[in-house]
Amino acid sequence: MVPDRVSVGTATPAPVLVVGSVAYDDIHTPFGHGTRILGGSASYAALATSYFTDARLVGIVGHDFEPAHRARLAARGIDLSGLQTDTSGETFFWAGRYHENFDRRDTLETRLNVFEHFRPDLPPAYRSTPYVLLGNILPSLQSFVLDQLDGKAFVLADTMDLWVKHARADLVKLMPRVDLFLINDDEATQLTGEASPILAGRALLGMGPRQVVIKKGSHGALLFTQDSLFAVPAYPVTELRDPTGAGDSFAGALLGYLAAVNDTSPAAMRRAMAYATVTASLTVEAFSCDRLESAGAAAIAGRYQELLAMVRIES
Ligand code: AMP
Repeated sequence: MVPDRVSVGTATPAPVLVVGSVAYDDIHTPFGHGTRILGGSASYAALATSYFTDARLVGIVGHDFEPAHRARLAARGIDLSGLQTDTSGETFFWAGRYHENFDRRDTLETRLNVFEHFRPDLPPAYRSTPYVLLGNILPSLQSFVLDQLDGKAFVLADTMDLWVKHARADLVKLMPRVDLFLINDDEATQLTGEASPILAGRALLGMGPRQVVIKKGSHGALLFTQDSLFAVPAYPVTELRDPTGAGDSFAGALLGYLAAVNDTSPAAMRRAMAYATVTASLTVEAFSCDRLESAGAAAIAGRYQELLAMVRIES
């Protein structure tokens, strides 16, 4: 069964390879908490991608990963042949707590578990995938994936504060190898020393990626290229429950759209930013991947039109 897809007017969508974490999360928000809920950068990103095109997931889980959770990913048509199971350990575990305003969070605990010995070896058939999403994992593993590709892919890489702090040299080495580098505003400041997102974006471009996106949570996102700046506001969410995975969903939808139309032109990039924004807005309305899974393509298409109407200016 082909899962429902956002109609973007294309006959030949290209697939997306998604590499990242598949996790169990404990999440505390001002609204309540979720215990051992399905999470991980690759889970959110691949689910978001699946609304636009075929997603191929590469990651690792442990002996405790429940068949029901695997089935949730498979139900959206995600190809799981690159999802390794290491029966000698437990699935990656992350616990986080959000502050009152939801814009900041603290990591309470990270247990790498089977991730500690993970080598993301790509199945041979995956090595020529034209669009590659390097979700948030150790930058050295992201580079290891790039080493196995045929060199022709459009590559998006996401990261997090942990790696800016503890694996900066590897992250800096990765950056010139990617077409699109995603990072949130606090992390951009941490990496560049620039408090202003505009100056941070320009500084990041200077570090080598062809384009940079700075995600600003409820304040929207900025796309920087060598000769342009594009801004998109956040979709006005009123049912904010759990922001976990917003960034990963943003990345998955952004690349999913580009792959679906097989176009990375400036105009396609701007539409992709809008699809990414509205897809992420669904993720945050429930714990775990629940709302992202249940939303359906029509909700994404509807919010996309609403967002376009929000920013339209008649000249
Ligand atoms: P986001 O809210 O988009 O930054 O993504 C949150 C997801 O990232 C959670 O579901 C976590 O399981 C996952 N995550 C948190 N820390 C790490 C880490 N160090 N490596 C890989 N994934 C992580």
